[in-house]
Amino acid sequence: MDGMTANDITHVVDADRAHVWHHLIQHKPFETGEPRIIVEGKGMRVWDQHGKEHLDAVAGGVWTVNVGYGRESIANAVRDQILKMNFFGGTVGTIPGALFAEKLIAKMPGMTRVYYCNSGSEANEKAFKMVRQIAHKRYGGKKTKILYRDRDYHGSTLATMSAGGQDERNAQYGPFAPDFIRVPHCMEYRKHEQDGAPDQNYGEWAAGQIEEVILREGPDTVGALCLEPVTAGGGVITPPEGYWERVQEICEKYDILLHIDEVVCGMGRTGVWFGYQNYGVKPDIVTMAKGVASGYAAISCCVTSEKVFELFKDDASDPMNYFRDISTFGGCTAGPAAALENMRILEDEDLLGNTLTMGARMVDNLQALAEKHRVIGDVRGKGLFCGAELVTDRDTKEPMHEKMVQAVVADCMQQGVIIGATNRSIPSKNNTLCFSPPLIATADDIDEITNAVDGALGRVFA
Ligand code: PMP
Repeated sequence: MDGMTANDITHVVDADRAHVWHHLIQHKPFETGEPRIIVEGKGMRVWDQHGKEHLDAVAGGVWTVNVGYGRESIANAVRDQILKMNFFGGTVGTIPGALFAEKLIAKMPGMTRVYYCNSGSEANEKAFKMVRQIAHKRYGGKKTKILYRDRDYHGSTLATMSAGGQDERNAQYGPFAPDFIRVPHCMEYRKHEQDGAPDQNYGEWAAGQIEEVILREGPDTVGALCLEPVTAGGGVITPPEGYWERVQEICEKYDILLHIDEVVCGMGRTGVWFGYQNYGVKPDIVTMAKGVASGYAAISCCVTSEKVFELFKDDASDPMNYFRDISTFGGCTAGPAAALENMRILEDEDLLGNTLTMGARMVDNLQALAEKHRVIGDVRGKGLFCGAELVTDRDTKEPMHEKMVQAVVADCMQQGVIIGATNRSIPSKNNTLCFSPPLIATADDIDEITNAVDGALGRVFA
């Protein structure tokens, strides 16, 4: 670790322990134990405060660092841009903002406008506000309802939590905002838990469940449907056959805007630019964040079709008729400067192609592990976004207890491989191992990850 003495490291650990409130974790153990501090990263690997090397199978913990660590060209692009012009917010444009919007839109046929902000939650909030304003402008205050799906996640703010399908995340934070309505999930592996789910054509049936909710609520009250293309934190849920086709038809039939949350899947994670492009869907609004600049800068985007955009400029004589919203750091040029270079890397290094090849290898490897370890009940994946769901019994599909799943994650960590585990909406049943490495992963990296899992499963379930 360049230039850091043992004393420096001790100081950092002490300062962290004394003053940093880490995300998503109970801090009591830090009173005696040490928080983990990641000190350096290069390519697929990161080093912690003890100099221990880890292979990162979760792209920065939360599926973000798509182009890998230590990219000098992104650092240079950001440096050059912020020395020239770092920030101007509010009503104006910037050079990287314009150029990145142009490049992004070229990857998204049917979409035309990019609204800049800085986190996935914020991008989703913008989308919700657009839907609400359209309800007031066009539908006399009706069509304010926003449908979201069981197991999906859209962010940590109160409005995005109101659209949150993972119950254990929401517990103790209510009351939530009104007019967010839940629709059932589409997880084929667990269809036995859904009343009336058929053996055949499950995808169509699951989409039909959304239509039932729309009819129950009244189609003239529903403004939008917000879905993840592949549910991420809710269990790496890949959609069943026929699902998206039917979802699109339903939205068109009832004049409901389709908002796709690409915060995780966007920018190549599933082997195409955006997850929805796997399914031939035509969204009205697309939100994205994590991979947009691979964590080299904080940037998110709420992208719309011209149809949506036009609704905010159709009557310019009305002083209320524009999107009356701002994001201060939407004017920070580090984001689009990093995003432009990030996109160049994805293209020039053919990382989407690599994602398809390596994703297939990851699924093959996990399936081979499933032959050997009966605790793996299901293997799912789209590109380099893969999950292995652990169960106590393959016939009943009883979810593995979270403690055991975390023991597998901890064993991999001991071996120097960082993997993740996703939520299942039920406390203590956090049972899907999750793999979403940087998109630069090689065959050796993939094999190293799955070999570590093989060893961990062997030890934990010996
Ligand atoms: N949508 C999805 C699908 C996510 O997974 C996340 C974050 N994990 C968000 C939205 C929220 O993004 P952020 O944490 O940047 O606000």
